[in-house]
Amino acid sequence: MLRLYDTRARQVEPIVPAGSRVLRMYTCGPTVYRHAHVGNLRSYLLSDLIRRVAERHGLRAVVCQNITDVGHLVDDAEIDPTGEDKVLAQARREGRSALEIARFYEDAFRRDTLALNIHTPRHTPRATETIDLMIELIARLIEKGHAYAVPDGSVFFDATSFPTYGEISGNRLDQLKPGHRVEGVDSRKRFHADWALWKASGREMTWDAPWGRGFPGWHVECSAMSLRFLGDRVDVHTGGIDLRFPHHEDERAQSNAATGHEVVGHWVHGEHLLFDGRKMSKSTGNVVLLSDVAEAGLDPLAIRLALMEHRYRQQMNLTWDTLRAADRTLRRWRLRVAEWAESPSRPIDAGHSARIQQALDDDLDTPLALRLLRDLERDDSVAPGSRFETFLHFDHILGLDLSTEIGKVSVLPPGASELLERRERARAAGDWAASDRLRDELTELGVRVSDTPEGQTAQPLQP
Ligand code: AMP
Ligand code: ZN
Repeated sequence: MLRLYDTRARQVEPIVPAGSRVLRMYTCGPTVYRHAHVGNLRSYLLSDLIRRVAERHGLRAVVCQNITDVGHLVDDAEIDPTGEDKVLAQARREGRSALEIARFYEDAFRRDTLALNIHTPRHTPRATETIDLMIELIARLIEKGHAYAVPDGSVFFDATSFPTYGEISGNRLDQLKPGHRVEGVDSRKRFHADWALWKASGREMTWDAPWGRGFPGWHVECSAMSLRFLGDRVDVHTGGIDLRFPHHEDERAQSNAATGHEVVGHWVHGEHLLFDGRKMSKSTGNVVLLSDVAEAGLDPLAIRLALMEHRYRQQMNLTWDTLRAADRTLRRWRLRVAEWAESPSRPIDAGHSARIQQALDDDLDTPLALRLLRDLERDDSVAPGSRFETFLHFDHILGLDLSTEIGKVSVLPPGASELLERRERARAAGDWAASDRLRDELTELGVRVSDTPEGQTAQPLQP
């Protein structure tokens, strides 16, 4: 059974889906106003790994990941951010329409995640196409006394109506300080920590609502979409660590207030990726994109491997050296798998594979799983056919395309497989003299033959 660290419970917990064999997962998706950098992609890889491990356990994962194409404001560090919409600001910079920008970067995001073998979620709703869901949810929150409309047509969530606010991040309402914006606390709010669910506005990208024309707040998007596409029980909710507060606190308050119960079973957060020692972000100026990695001649999946060399819950520092090392390992493993593919097939190695599976189940200990695979790679006591099956088995989770070189590279020199076949027949017939002669011929060809309890195996002398 998979166990994960639950940020709210502050401990590692078994993941048991509420609906017997279906694991419902929600992942906060991208704001589509720029290319996703490798740090962002680390957060989406987390969701993909959870899903793949759960699927190995026979669960059916249903994943929903929103596309934020409206409502995410430039200054989102506070509970109720003010300022310009990220998508609109970028549209102005590029001289294009907001929707052009949003669709362009959404396509780019899809290509990048596919290149990293991150499975496309079942549901990928766009905020601009689900405004009705948000309006419905906001109306429900007003009706239940958790939200209030103000004269200008905006709607705020009444934070004090949700006493357990802060359980995920530890930021309790009584400890929150009023915002540091120059204009002070928004006089439309009853309490400084209330946040906008609907923002009255006549700008581009606004919609009519019962309270007035405007656009939804970013936090309400995720509640509305998860409740609609996954229902009122979400087993696992993932995101980057910076989303704990206020985004996930606000989302939890909205969803629980609307349904009257705890909606999310487990909150799981991925730590930040650093590059050259500092958090990768546009403002720091140390952003690495997938295209940069491809331009450097590295396989995009080298990023996936490099990220898995660290546990998702630890900050990790990426460098070009680690990326190049991951690229070398990836290429070597693909060649090894192709080479092992030429040996007779054998069952998965039970001992190694149990340990690797245990590592993955233990809060996604991918670095340990990779170390165990390296041990298996070198373990000549395990038949090549068995190493082959075990690597491919775990590639379903690791997603490194380890089978791409099978049949493509000629691992053994021409003529070798015929000699091997003749030698196998000679040995079966007990003709040891012929067997030895054929072994010499193979050595001359550059092939080393070993006889194991499972039969002969062959390897090139110089891989
Ligand atoms: P954004 O597009 O900025 O909303 O971020 C998208 C996702 O990437 C969120 O889940 C963030 O928490 C996450 N994220 C942003 N920067 C990093 C980073 N340097 N390392 C890991 N995750 C990040
Ligand atoms: Zn979200």
